[in-house]
Amino acid sequence: MPCRKPLKCDEHYCKKSCHSGPCDICKVEVPIVCRCGSSKLMVECWTLFTDKPPIYTCDKPCKKKLRCKVHNCGTLCCAKTKAEHLCLKVCGKPLSCGLHQCSDFCHIGSCEKCRIVLT
Ligand SMILES: [Zn+2]
Ligand SMILES: [Zn+2]
Ligand SMILES: [Zn+2]
Ligand SMILES: [Zn+2]
Ligand SMILES: [Zn+2]
Ligand SMILES: [Zn+2]
Ligand SMILES: [Zn+2]
Repeated sequence: MPCRKPLKCDEHYCKKSCHSGPCDICKVEVPIVCRCGSSKLMVECWTLFTDKPPIYTCDKPCKKKLRCKVHNCGTLCCAKTKAEHLCLKVCGKPLSCGLHQCSDFCHIGSCEKCRIVLT
């Protein structure tokens, strides 16, 4: 007679024939999705119930545009929401003063006036 006791995961049952002592760890393969949700990896069920459950990150670069609408995100297995897609590049465009460059984070539209006051 198979044991059929529910295992720790509560989703699978012990497949061993009736035994004494505790059941084995659950070795059923279950899929986990990566951070961005585009890929799956099969892991043994028991690994999800450890102190450090596996986190799977795929190697797909994010194709979303950043908020500046110029640069691509490019983060591997990106878990960011649309609002978090800030561009942290420095604008660097020459300002109208002709001496300085824009030091703001990458932005939409024209740069602000030069704020550097020459003394
Ligand atoms: Zn299981
Ligand atoms: Zn069992
Ligand atoms: Zn992204
Ligand atoms: Zn991913
Ligand atoms: Zn300037
Ligand atoms: Zn940008
Ligand atoms: Zn700028």
